[in-house]
Amino acid sequence: MDQMSSERERLEQVLEETLAKIEQLNKKLEDKADYGLGKGGPTIYEWEFSLALRQSLEAKAKSIRAALRKTLEGNYGVCEACGQEIDVERLAVLPHTTLCIKCAQAKR
Ligand SMILES: [Zn+2]
Repeated sequence: MDQMSSERERLEQVLEETLAKIEQLNKKLEDKADYGLGKGGPTIYEWEFSLALRQSLEAKAKSIRAALRKTLEGNYGVCEACGQEIDVERLAVLPHTTLCIKCAQAKR
């Protein structure tokens, strides 16, 4: 029980950090009008990079939310595909993962 609540705190923290990064990127992306030719500032490529980064962060935020839901349901750390417990070490690196290493590799 205590372990689950600390997992939840950890996930909430990661979610917060991720959302903060998305927020920063949103501000950056709003400046699109200033990006461009010959200004010596950020280029359109950087803008596109920020956009791609935001998309991956949004995907991450989504999976963190899914993991948080799992802590509430009491099946956090259980692989969605095969039902095996996910390695603690894997969860330490990827707290929001929903697949064990075998299933994650098989998915590729
Ligand atoms: Zn699995």
